[in-house]
Amino acid sequence: MEQTRYIFVTGGVVSSLGKGIISSSIGNLLQAHGYSITIQKFDPYINIDPGTLNPYEHGECYVTVDGMETDLDLGHYERFTGIRTTKGNSITTGRIYKAVIDKERKGDYLGKTIQVVPHITDEIKRRMRRDDDPVHYDFIIIEVGGTIGDIESAPFMEAIRQLRWELGERAVCVHLTYVPYLKAAGEFKTKPTQHSVKEMQSMGIQPDVLILRTEYHLEDNLLKKVAAFCNVDIDCVFQSEDLPSIYQVPTNMLRQGLDKAILGKTGMPAREIARMSPWRTFLSKMEAAERGIRIGLVGKYDLQDAYKSIRESLFIAGIWNGVKVKPVFVSSEEITEENIGSKLEGMQGVIICPGFGSRGIEGKIIAAKYCRTHDIPTFGICLGMQMMVIEFARDVLGYSDANSREMDAATAHGVIDLMEDQKNVTQMGGTMRLGAYDCHLKEGSRTAAAYGTQDISERHRHRYEFNNAFRTEYEAAGMVCAGVNPESGLVEIVEIPSNRWYVGTQFHPEYSGTVLKPHPLFMDFIRTASGE
Ligand code: GLN
Repeated sequence: MEQTRYIFVTGGVVSSLGKGIISSSIGNLLQAHGYSITIQKFDPYINIDPGTLNPYEHGECYVTVDGMETDLDLGHYERFTGIRTTKGNSITTGRIYKAVIDKERKGDYLGKTIQVVPHITDEIKRRMRRDDDPVHYDFIIIEVGGTIGDIESAPFMEAIRQLRWELGERAVCVHLTYVPYLKAAGEFKTKPTQHSVKEMQSMGIQPDVLILRTEYHLEDNLLKKVAAFCNVDIDCVFQSEDLPSIYQVPTNMLRQGLDKAILGKTGMPAREIARMSPWRTFLSKMEAAERGIRIGLVGKYDLQDAYKSIRESLFIAGIWNGVKVKPVFVSSEEITEENIGSKLEGMQGVIICPGFGSRGIEGKIIAAKYCRTHDIPTFGICLGMQMMVIEFARDVLGYSDANSREMDAATAHGVIDLMEDQKNVTQMGGTMRLGAYDCHLKEGSRTAAAYGTQDISERHRHRYEFNNAFRTEYEAAGMVCAGVNPESGLVEIVEIPSNRWYVGTQFHPEYSGTVLKPHPLFMDFIRTASGE
C-alpha cells in the first residue's frame, strides 16, 4: 500500500475565498481517480469547538456522527465527497492547547518547559498525520482556517513547514489567494498574491500550487506572471472564477488539470476518471432545472450561513426533483396571527428551523398552526419539530399553556421536557444529546416510506425531548410518533398522516444528505411541495 499523501490548503489576502469548497473539490477529484481521502479542518481560534459560537459570527454549527460540534466547512466536505467526518476532522487551537496542558498536568512531559515549538507544533503535527487513526487514507487534505499572516495561525504554519520537510514529496501545499479587478485602472492586480506568497516563504513554506480566486476570467499571461513571481510551475497555477454554483467547482478545476498537478507533485498515478459521471449527471440536472419553487424558512437568523446545511439539502433535493428551490427567509420574530397568511403567501412548502432559546418561538408556533390547518407541506427540524408538538397541544389537545421546559420552566404541560437524568445539568457546553442515534420507524408511516427502510440513524443536537407522558393523547388526536429511539424510547419523529406532508424530526436530517445521496426526507418533502 502506498504511503499517505498530505495536501495542505491555506488561504491568503482575504478570508471567505472558499477554502472549504476548494478542499472539498480536491477531495472529490481524487476520489474520482479512485483514491481514498479524508479532509480535516484546523481552526486557529481558542474555543474548544464551535458549539457555543453565535451563528451570527460563525454561521451554522455542523455536527459529526460521533457528536462533535464543528465548523460548517465539514458540511461541504461531506456533501462533496460523501465521507463521514468525525471528531478528528475538526481541530481548533483550543483543543490543541487543552490536550497539551492536560498532558503537562499528568506529568507526561517529565518536567520540561512546555513551549509553542515543539510541544504545540508536535501536537498539531500528530493530528495532521492522524497518528491515532487506524484507517488508511491515500490522501489527507488539511485545510487551515484564517489567512496567511494572522498571528493565530503561525503555529499551524510552523507545523506545516516541518511536515513538508519530513514528508518530502508526500506533501503538497495549495495556496488560495485573491486577484482583485480594479475597475478604475481596468486591471487585475496580482500584487496581493505576490505578498501573500512572500509571507509564506518567510515562514519557510513554498506553495506548490496556487489557486487564484477571481470574479472574472484571467488570461494566461497573468497566470504566467504569477507563476514567475511566486516560484510556482506554470502548470500549477489555476484560477477559480466565480461560478453560478459551488457544485461546479470540481469540474472547473478538473478542466484545468488541478487533479493532475496534485497527483504529479505527490508522485501518485492518475487513474480512470470515469467516476465523475454521477457528479456530471447532477450538474446536467442542475442546468436543466427551470421551474422554481418557494420554500419558506421560518427562523430567527437572517443570514445565509446560519441554516447552511438546510439550504444546501433543499437545493440538492430540488435538483434531483427537477426544480430550483428558492428559500425565502421568514423572520419568526415578525410573525403574528394577523400577518402569517401574507408572510407565507406563495410558499409551496415551509421549513420550521432549529434553534435555541425563546426568541421568535411564538412566531414558529403560529407558522406551524397556519401550515397544519392550511395543509401546506411542512418540515419541522429539531426546535421546529418541538414547536409543531407545542402547537398541536395548544390547539388540538386543548392545553393552552403547553410549552417546552426550555422556554417555560413552570408550565403544567411541558410537552417538550428534559429527561430525568438531564435535570441537574447546568453547564452550557457539552451537555446535549449530540451525534448519531438509531431510530426505528413505524410501519406504514410517511417517513418509513420515504426512507424505504424502518431502521435509520440520524444526528442530534439538542437537550429537550418529546415528553412521552403525552404520547397516547397525541396519537389518539392524529399526531403520530413515527420514529422512536429503540433503546431509550425517545420520540424522534412526529407526523400528521391526514395532512399532505407534515413531519417534524427531533434530529437534524440536513447534516447527512450529500450531493450524490440526497436525504430521503428532503427528497420526499420537495417531491410533495413541488406537486410531483
Ligand atoms: N433548543 C432545543 C433543544 O435544546 C432545540 C435545539 C435545536 O433546534 N437544535 O432541545
